Amino acid sequence: MLKNDQLDAWDRENFFHPSTHLAQHARGESPNRIIKTASGCHIEDRDGNRLLDAFAGLYCVNVGYGRAEIADAIAEQARELAYYHSYVGHGTEASITLAKMILDRAPANMSKVYFGLGGSDANETNIKLVWYMNNILGRPEKKKIISRWRGYHGSGLMTGSLTGLELFHKKFDLPLAQVIHTDAPYYFRRDDLSQTEEQFTAQCAASLEALIEREGADTIAAFIGEPVLGTGGIVPPPAGYWAAIQAVLKKHDILLIADEVVTGFGRLGTMFGSDHYGIEADIITIAKGLTSAYAPLSGSIVSDKVWNVLEQGTDENGPIGHGWTYSAHPIGAAAGVANLRLIDDLNLVDNARDTGAYLNAAMRDALSDHPHVGEVRGEGLLCAVEFVKDRDTRAFFDAADKIGPQIAAALLDRDKVIARAMPQGNILGFAPPFCLTRDEADSVVAATARAVNTVLG
Ligand code: PLP
Repeated sequence: MLKNDQLDAWDRENFFHPSTHLAQHARGESPNRIIKTASGCHIEDRDGNRLLDAFAGLYCVNVGYGRAEIADAIAEQARELAYYHSYVGHGTEASITLAKMILDRAPANMSKVYFGLGGSDANETNIKLVWYMNNILGRPEKKKIISRWRGYHGSGLMTGSLTGLELFHKKFDLPLAQVIHTDAPYYFRRDDLSQTEEQFTAQCAASLEALIEREGADTIAAFIGEPVLGTGGIVPPPAGYWAAIQAVLKKHDILLIADEVVTGFGRLGTMFGSDHYGIEADIITIAKGLTSAYAPLSGSIVSDKVWNVLEQGTDENGPIGHGWTYSAHPIGAAAGVANLRLIDDLNLVDNARDTGAYLNAAMRDALSDHPHVGEVRGEGLLCAVEFVKDRDTRAFFDAADKIGPQIAAALLDRDKVIARAMPQGNILGFAPPFCLTRDEADSVVAATARAVNTVLG
């Protein structure tokens, strides 16, 4: 077996890591961690550390690590048929079965699933479909896409534009001109502290409507949003938000894309976030929890309304000019089938709901009164703690203070718990696997309280 220092050297010499300070990493100034194995909610690194992964990788290993059922399904599929494409009507038992299983779980107005590889490419597909659709419908000027500041939809050219986080735009010449951003539904950071949630929701809807009127509804194709803002800070929407936004979109004939890459398949304690909030989307993006990250796979679930226009388009223009070599890859599909079965068999959606409620309540009990905790918030098995310089004036720390990263580091260092310092703001995020037990939730909370006290007193 290779020695750790050899791997460390090769890593720094050869490996271009995503979302990493490249120069510091190459110079050896930032730690690297080489992961060896994992089971349940725990991962183990090559230095022998056993860590409680309270972020499920990148909120994706929803069923937990080391599930033999999924590993066996992948191995069997690889032996029987590692690959065949899905162009011009080809399929495999796994991909056809998975499409049916997804539709059986999806909202009733959904019609078909297009498979991709990750959340970013699925959202690229969605925007292409929306553009194609409006060309077929004879309204080629209706193309702009509205997303929210702090939304996260990937880091491709279009999807990086949809993402409303500065880091993903800066120096990349993004966002592209077809993308416009509206307000984040972030009640805690509202300007007017006297507003109720309902008033803030009304303001978000009015601000969206004003944007649509400024731009012209006949230039806007779709609105994309995550049911709960994820990477932008784990922010559940204020009361009545989705009903108010959908009313505006319907009025102006603008499609709704629900990006359920994080919330799909149970994270909010319901199969989809759309079920949770009464979202009636035209397209739903899925990825992460579809296979619990045992293999790369994503999907665009399109509604009857979209599908009917796509059929019309191919009748008029021939086969749709869109596809990836690895669309519906049989190994990903086999992982997806085994994963969705496991979620059902182990009642993991219910566990996400119940343990999520327990974790959020325990985190609130432990931290809500801390003088530097501005808010503890969450939904299902998503939880966030936002730190502030001053609770009374609600003054925020500067990004340069790196309070979130310092607390995440303290948590890891002393108690070997992984949480995620969210990229914009001083926010610590939690999104554990659905198999988290109450004891594990208690450990996460106790360790977080210790880390907060270590860094902030
Ligand atoms: N959409 C959402 C809501 C996400 O959280 C992510 C990734 O975190 C993506 C899209 C992009 O997915 P991927 O990283 O698989 O491209």
